[in-house]
Amino acid sequence: MQDVIILGCGVIGAACAYTLSRYDVSVTVLEKSNDVANGTTKANSAIVHAGYDPRPGTAIARLNVEGNRMMEDLCRRLDVPFKRIGSHVLAFSEADLSHLQVLYERGVKNGVPDLRILTGEEARLMEPNLSEAVVGSLYAPTAGIVSPWELTLAMAEVAVRNGVELILEAPTTAIRQEEDGTFTVTTPKGDFRAKTVLNATGVDAEAVCGLLGVHEFTLTPNRGEYYLLDKSEGTRVRSVIFQCPDENGKGVLVSPTVHGNLIVGPNAEAVSGADATENTAQGLSFVKKQAIRSVPTLSFRENIRNFAGVRANHAEDDFLIGESSTFPGFFHLAGIKSPGLTAAPAIAKEAAEYVASRTPLIPKAEFSDGRRVIRFKSLSEEEKRAVIARNPLYGRVICRCETVTEGEIVAALQSPIPPTTVNGVKRRVGAGMGRCQGGFCSPRVQEILARELGIPMEAIPLDQPGSNILTGRTKEEYR
Ligand SMILES: Cc1cc2nc3c(=O)[nH]c(=O)nc-3n(C[C@H](O)[C@H](O)[C@H](O)COP(=O)(O)OP(=O)(O)OC[C@H]3O[C@@H](n4cnc5c(N)ncnc54)[C@H](O)[C@@H]3O)c2cc1C
Repeated sequence: MQDVIILGCGVIGAACAYTLSRYDVSVTVLEKSNDVANGTTKANSAIVHAGYDPRPGTAIARLNVEGNRMMEDLCRRLDVPFKRIGSHVLAFSEADLSHLQVLYERGVKNGVPDLRILTGEEARLMEPNLSEAVVGSLYAPTAGIVSPWELTLAMAEVAVRNGVELILEAPTTAIRQEEDGTFTVTTPKGDFRAKTVLNATGVDAEAVCGLLGVHEFTLTPNRGEYYLLDKSEGTRVRSVIFQCPDENGKGVLVSPTVHGNLIVGPNAEAVSGADATENTAQGLSFVKKQAIRSVPTLSFRENIRNFAGVRANHAEDDFLIGESSTFPGFFHLAGIKSPGLTAAPAIAKEAAEYVASRTPLIPKAEFSDGRRVIRFKSLSEEEKRAVIARNPLYGRVICRCETVTEGEIVAALQSPIPPTTVNGVKRRVGAGMGRCQGGFCSPRVQEILARELGIPMEAIPLDQPGSNILTGRTKEEYR
């Protein structure tokens, strides 16, 4: 029997696993998908929000600001790309200017440091590509950008290295509370028992809680669609450019990514569930129209990918973090909409406090924190030569657009949570993230996966089980 079972390994489940792995408690993470960060965590704006948007006094406000404070140090320790580039919320009218004032006052109450309201001219001095129609901005220097899946993977890897058990392809299909108060969680990979369960299943959290036979909260899935523009557009703006938020969310933003691209989106549209991640002509055209209001010179010809993520909106417009009212020991980490990525480390701290109220959290003497990754293209020439001399696989470039080497792919395959899919490799090392979107490197990645995993190339999926790319060998077919 475990002390804790965490359901779901998105950024919230991974942050909880990482935080708890410092202590002498037994933890199992049960994840539905074949990889970590395969839900909302892999498809969002990737912004580390400053924290002026949430209403003061809410859990969102508190955890947003605390998460923002924790993020830089966390990313440094775990070798995760993070940049504190600041953000502007633009005003286009007198009404918008009064809204900026409201956001400024909220930010001050929430404890966001160094907020300033700028005139249109001052904003354009910082961001020359802003529209002439901009009459002011709320500038927040503490906003940043991060790589959401690398953050999640890094936290999960360190947790696994420190004894947390991660079981992939293990969807929770039933949960029951035993007479002694412990929980049995049923999955296709077997039954698991624990004293405490943390429900971090994102958009599915309502349904997963429902497996206990109760309905304690309602989530409304809401999709946001994006454009990802090539690196040629990556410096069109230097900071995150928002418009005034409304009841549908934070509005359409334009922002550099940590990998040097430009992200544009999202819209907000109610959908049926976590799987509704398709793009629509209507959604994308709305995003384009709105983004051009902020930055008229944006070139959508440089688009290299569209994608969509689904928000787990909670009816009460706040995160739902707390114990089940019916089942003591079952803890909700639900309704974690934006800024859940930002708040993740702070949410995990709160979840650990909850676990501590049921099982003493004694620090492990042998906890090993931190992680280092070789990113070949960011090494100096001298470092590159040294790395290749140690391991010639770093001398073979597999992804030409992103300069990703075979050495990096093999290192990922030997890591604590190895990828088993082409997209799993892409998310870990960036192969296929560039302008050609894997057109050139995808077959090479499949060859390396097949060789290292000892399976035929035809058995390798693009992403989810069943999304196989190859069906057989052409020459054998026609023999
Ligand atoms: C359009 C959009 C933009 C956003 N922008 C930002 C932003 O810029 N900044 C920010 O801070 N936040 C942002 N967010 C919010 C952020 O992405 C989420 O708060 C965060 O990713 C939620 O993480 P999670 O771990 O709760 O959910 P998920 O990442 O969805 O993880 C839940 C996990 O549970 C698994 N699961 C589901 N059902 C089961 C089951 N039955 N058994 C086991 N496992 C299961 C899923 O496979 C998944 O891996 C945005 C969200 C969206 C949709």
